[in-house]
Amino acid sequence: SAFEYAPAPESRSVVDIAPSYGLFIDGEFTDAADGKVFKTVSPSSEEVLSEVAQAGAADVDRAVKAARKAFEKWSALPGSERAKYLFRIARIIQERSRELAVLETLDNGKPIKETRDADLPLVAAHFFYYAGWADKLDHAGYGANPRPLGVAGQIIPWNFPLLMLAWKIAPALATGNTVVLKPAETTPLSALFFADICRQAGLPKGVVNILTGYGDAGAALVEHEDVNKIAFTGSTAVGKAIARQIAGTDKKVTLELGGKGANIVFDDAPIDQAVEGIVTGIFFNQGQVCCAGSRLLVQESIQDELLDALKRRLSTLRLGDPLDKNTDIGAINSAEQLARITALVETGEAEGAERWSASCELPSSGYWFAPTLFTNVTQAHTIARDEIFGPVLSVLSFRTPDEAVAKANNSQYGLSAGIWTEKGSRILAVANKLRAGVVWANTFNKFDPTSPFGGYKESGFGREGGRHGLEAYLDVR
Ligand code: NAD
Repeated sequence: SAFEYAPAPESRSVVDIAPSYGLFIDGEFTDAADGKVFKTVSPSSEEVLSEVAQAGAADVDRAVKAARKAFEKWSALPGSERAKYLFRIARIIQERSRELAVLETLDNGKPIKETRDADLPLVAAHFFYYAGWADKLDHAGYGANPRPLGVAGQIIPWNFPLLMLAWKIAPALATGNTVVLKPAETTPLSALFFADICRQAGLPKGVVNILTGYGDAGAALVEHEDVNKIAFTGSTAVGKAIARQIAGTDKKVTLELGGKGANIVFDDAPIDQAVEGIVTGIFFNQGQVCCAGSRLLVQESIQDELLDALKRRLSTLRLGDPLDKNTDIGAINSAEQLARITALVETGEAEGAERWSASCELPSSGYWFAPTLFTNVTQAHTIARDEIFGPVLSVLSFRTPDEAVAKANNSQYGLSAGIWTEKGSRILAVANKLRAGVVWANTFNKFDPTSPFGGYKESGFGREGGRHGLEAYLDVR
């Protein structure tokens, strides 16, 4: 069967996880002021990996004060000096990338193939890219001598813990800001290892502070009066709450929120290539991706052929131990996320959509969901509208390019879309009409630090990545 293969697990022993970790404030690891701790669990085994300090409002205040103090010297450094630190961090990430990939896979549940070949190379690339900008800000088109904002409060999710950290920290530091970052509660470890990398790189104390904790610590960071900018990636509900909290203050904000990306396949698309793109679009990181291609829009005349090919391909995906180098589908990040996915899939069935799941044995411990697709989906169905954030694809069909565009745009979100066709003129015509921040053509989920990323509509506010990503951390004059 497709599920029999020679296991080749990456060695867990390449990473040394301590039984407990403190918060990283002013260059030191320290307990939370009230001594609170919480456990982080591996979602593929439910094993407790470590116990980490749980930040509260007093710790947020300590970290912001440290960042404020560090800001004076850090922002006054010549860009070429800041660049040296960022290049050093990038190189250490490369040197330690095997260790970090295993750590990320253990804490997040995603396959080692992804952390090793996608997450970690992109993390290093972001630091290299923004290191390169640090001494060129006068030439970025912002006018002479653009100024950093000050202390940036950064709140990130669990789906790409280290990559989201890189998206946030690299441009902030390159532009002369200092940082207080809160990783998600289910994936605190790679940010704490990053703190160690900052020490290894000799980064001045207080330039980067890491506060592990829950949403209340995030809310305290948003509220803190001496924070100048909030950068948030996560759910739309929390993003809206943050926007409300910030309204009327002088804080700047960028929000990267949810999505319901349309992956549009025209009848002239190369079917095999499109199938791979659909699989990457929705099953990469178990679909826990804000820009996932979670709605397949397929031209009616090729629907049967495409779905047959897709189901055959899904039946060959290997689900299981994320440390196994052959694994395609890892664990869902948490019991809560698994419950959310399960509830939305049940809603899909109750509303009359037709469910198909790849037949595969799910491991007995950990959080797992088999690759699933729904046909007979209409635009009114909940599973066609709400973000599932799991390995679940909703299939809709269309007849004409205009209908495809109308259906793709019929969403509260506008983060990503994909187009599959041989016709270059059609790619341009359709892409220009899509209300989405990212449009991929004959590929999906491709990332690069030089490209701005962000959403239309409820998918967010502002852009990260590329030259635009600098703007989010600068006052231009
Ligand atoms: P979330 O928005 O609750 O959490 C994201 C981050 O925000 C975490 O670090 C969390 O601790 C923090 N946070 C929570 N409440 C906060 C508050 N009031 N103020 C400040 N910070 C706060 O996301 P979640 O609960 O982990 O996931 C829920 C859903 O969000 C998912 O099912 C998915 O649909 C979506 N999601 C989207 C992304 C994305 O990349 N856009 C990432 C994760 C989750």
